[in-house]
Amino acid sequence: ATMPPLLSAMANAGRHGVLVKSAVVMERLGQVDAVALDKTGTLTEGTPRVTDVGPFPGTGLDDEELLLRAAAAEAPSEHPLARAIVTAAREQGLEIRPVVDFGSTPGVGVKATLDGRLVEVGAPARLLRGADDAASARAAALAGELEEGGRTAVLVILDGAPVGVLGIADRLRPDAAATVTSLASLAGTAPVLLTGDNPRAAARLAAEAGIEDVRAGLLPEDKVRAVRELETAGRRVMVVGDGVNDAPALAAAHTGVAMGRAGSDLALETADAVIVRDELATVPAVIALSRRARKLVV
Ligand code: ADP
Ligand code: MG
Repeated sequence: ATMPPLLSAMANAGRHGVLVKSAVVMERLGQVDAVALDKTGTLTEGTPRVTDVGPFPGTGLDDEELLLRAAAAEAPSEHPLARAIVTAAREQGLEIRPVVDFGSTPGVGVKATLDGRLVEVGAPARLLRGADDAASARAAALAGELEEGGRTAVLVILDGAPVGVLGIADRLRPDAAATVTSLASLAGTAPVLLTGDNPRAAARLAAEAGIEDVRAGLLPEDKVRAVRELETAGRRVMVVGDGVNDAPALAAAHTGVAMGRAGSDLALETADAVIVRDELATVPAVIALSRRARKLVV
């Protein structure tokens, strides 16, 4: 017997490296007319590297001690920035000691207790919110310098006092710009970038990828709001993301697509389709497959 078009399209998507979870999803993929892309791990390779380690003067910490504390607090996290920090510490031969009371807030950062001291690591703009002391002002200025250079700045706070910043850089995926172009022509609207990262790093990366509409500094619920706004305007929105922070937007979207290789478990479970082969260019390919199958169905 010949397979129904949507089922054979699913099998075909599988050969392209995309796991489409149902025939209904296979059909919906072709209806998409707006695309929202996450930055870290989606538009970028998702294997960022620590490029700068900057303990603040007067804190008594050197580079290794700063990195060590940040890595210990980040060790339980699956965030790409966390993995970058842990990798940097390991490469320096630092021993990462276990922490207690670990907690993470998507789009913000992590906290944990190491040797009885509270370590917080995360987005400077979020962690410094409301603080107006001199140490916080200096921390914000140093983070701003790193961000100006296209880095993601990560702030380290020890027992409530900012003690240093780390600079982290990630590369655009090689197929990002071409994918943005194909998605724009398939969807009929230019893709938008939704990111929790700082506006400066986001703008720089978006320019490289050919994206003009950039919304930065978003919390998970802000990503959902952005998707709902597009849907209220009559769009059927595809969200492509990888993180725990993307899960609510993946769920709210008309079609949610997760990056499989380094994607968080929550994103993979929530998404309607999973990119297994880790190539962004498979996204326009499956939209095209869906359109072809739907022509055969109707
Ligand atoms: P994106 O939307 O680009 O994938 P996220 O929402 O995951 O980014 O993260 C947004 C910002 O929150 C990061 O740029 C970083 O500043 C901060 N952040 C989130 N998780 C962590 C973490 N585990 N360690 C350090 N910073 C983090
Ligand atoms: Mg991400």
